[in-house]
Amino acid sequence: MCLFVAYFPQWNEKTLAGNASTVFVNVPAMDAIEVPVLVVGGSLVGLSTALLLGHHGIRSVVVEHHRGTAIHPRAAQISQRTMEVFRTVGIEQIVRRKSDEQFVQDGAIMAVETLAGKELAWFIANLNEGIRDVSPTERVFISQSLLEPLLKSKAEELGAELRFSTDMVSFEQDASGVTAVIRRSDANSTQTVRAAYMVAADGAHSSVREKLGITMRGRGAFSNSVTIYFRANIAPLLRGRNLSVIYVNNAVLRGFFRFEKPFDSGFLAINALGDPNNPITNVSTDLSGERCKEFIRVALGADDIPITVENVMPWKAEADVAEAFQRGRIFLAGDSAHVMPPNGGFGGNTGVQDAHNLAWKLAHVLKGKAGPELLATYEWERRPVAQFTVEQAYSRYVTRTAPYLGTDTIQPVENDLNVELGYCYGGDKLHENPRESKGRPGTRAPHYWLEHNGERISTLDLFGRNFVLLTGPDGPARTGVDADVHRIGDSGFLNAYGMTPSGAVLVRPDGFVSPP
Ligand SMILES: Cc1cc2nc3c(=O)[nH]c(=O)nc-3n(C[C@H](O)[C@H](O)[C@H](O)COP(=O)(O)OP(=O)(O)OC[C@H]3O[C@@H](n4cnc5c(N)ncnc54)[C@H](O)[C@@H]3O)c2cc1C
Repeated sequence: MCLFVAYFPQWNEKTLAGNASTVFVNVPAMDAIEVPVLVVGGSLVGLSTALLLGHHGIRSVVVEHHRGTAIHPRAAQISQRTMEVFRTVGIEQIVRRKSDEQFVQDGAIMAVETLAGKELAWFIANLNEGIRDVSPTERVFISQSLLEPLLKSKAEELGAELRFSTDMVSFEQDASGVTAVIRRSDANSTQTVRAAYMVAADGAHSSVREKLGITMRGRGAFSNSVTIYFRANIAPLLRGRNLSVIYVNNAVLRGFFRFEKPFDSGFLAINALGDPNNPITNVSTDLSGERCKEFIRVALGADDIPITVENVMPWKAEADVAEAFQRGRIFLAGDSAHVMPPNGGFGGNTGVQDAHNLAWKLAHVLKGKAGPELLATYEWERRPVAQFTVEQAYSRYVTRTAPYLGTDTIQPVENDLNVELGYCYGGDKLHENPRESKGRPGTRAPHYWLEHNGERISTLDLFGRNFVLLTGPDGPARTGVDADVHRIGDSGFLNAYGMTPSGAVLVRPDGFVSPP
């Protein structure tokens, strides 16, 4: 155990009850920081965790190695479920506005031999076609470089303290909390953080996971891939087609393109080179600027377009899930808990769903509304969903990019909607069509438009902080749990929730229907 612990009082869950201003107990000694939750990693998932904790009135300190939010676009496909989470915390509209500045929305996901040449397949013709009825939100494209500043500023508004250029260098946990040592990159001195809980959103190479001795299980790595960020006028090659993700499969390379408005910049991710049946999968070595340009020319299918390579980022394509998501008072979230190929755009979204599942549970326990055993449900619920989602990403990787890996052991590709909105907790099913869940325990409570005080709201707008009891016109007025009660007589609502007039469903703060 760390020596620092002696200087701090025992954490008392009861003392932490209340809103953000009441969660600090005692004044920390010297320059030590005392906070309910320490978040390691301030990228997409760490920032989302801080934001969601803040939404529940829980303060956090986030430490992030980099100087600021993401400078490279990276993830961009944001699912309806993630947009629902953003709607709950009040940033849906600004995310939409910013996304429109960056991308033409509702594009297709398809495959070509080259952008100028032959089209090979259309996987999704329009990103939002046929799914608008299930949610008050839509899928959008917005890259991490634009999204993260929005998450950061809302998290700060809600009380999170973000420390960039700061590493978490060591940690210890004991029965009552976690003691971590952090260091600013421009200082020799270190500081101590004492937290009741720690969330490791420190990415695929998570040092927290490693130190906890948690191993990754799954298919391992299957490519040393690379993303080449570049500038070039590709507008003429699009020929008016609205394309969100363009897979490129030819005799030289296999990967995918993504372009931003006004179609003079984007990236080419490359997973494999050469013979499609026996390719080279170590792509991220020997990447001179000229070689990168040659790959881009080949993928564009055009020799005469000036290209500027802006950056080259190596990454591993892998499909693995951590064997545990919790050790004592420490939780893994995002890529530290699961890594998957980007095919499907599930990785970052799954991490945001982790944060959404965990934040209200931490808040309830810290406020003394629930016992610490509630926290065990984070792993029970999220790990099977992560396993399913990782396999779905792998199936898309094999079928869209890497058939040489073989299709014998892959899961059938499920509809994206079922992966994004239809994932289930507990019970026999891992996923289903969200139109069929009908308010069953363990599923996302369905969206249905309601009239409320003269305004049109979604049922989802009733959820977010407290438990909510939705009842039919003759349903019970209360339940055993402290919950907001809404009595709804609309027959369409009863149908959407598979409810009789005397029925009721209890919805958790994360919008999932509680077990009976
Ligand atoms: C080419 C590509 C395209 C993708 N497209 C999509 C997409 O469209 N949609 C989608 O959902 N996902 C997509 N993904 C996946 C997505 O990028 C990741 O799942 C997501 O970035 C994971 O976020 P994270 O916060 O968990 O981890 P990371 O983004 O890896 O962040 C971890 C952070 O922790 C910090 N850190 C680590 N250790 C410490 C420490 N000790 N102290 C302080 N800081 C520390 C790091 O500096 C880093 O910033 C894509 C991935 C790739 C490669």
